[in-house]
Amino acid sequence: MKVICILCDRPFQPDKFTEKKIKKHPHRIQICPGCHQRITEQATRRKRQTALSTPFHAADLKPDQSSKD
Ligand SMILES: [Zn+2]
Repeated sequence: MKVICILCDRPFQPDKFTEKKIKKHPHRIQICPGCHQRITEQATRRKRQTALSTPFHAADLKPDQSSKD
């Protein structure tokens, strides 16, 4: 079974587990492992950048000292 990657338009051989998934959901788009890895790297980098620019749970942190008199 050969699948065409939607990103690089190159046919690739999916592993047995992926092949099963494709047969079950034939209308889902498929990307080759190479493109998948590239996208994962990009997503991780973007996620890290977003985490740095916005403080973690900054809105949830309320200073406890406000109740102190
Ligand atoms: Zn690809």
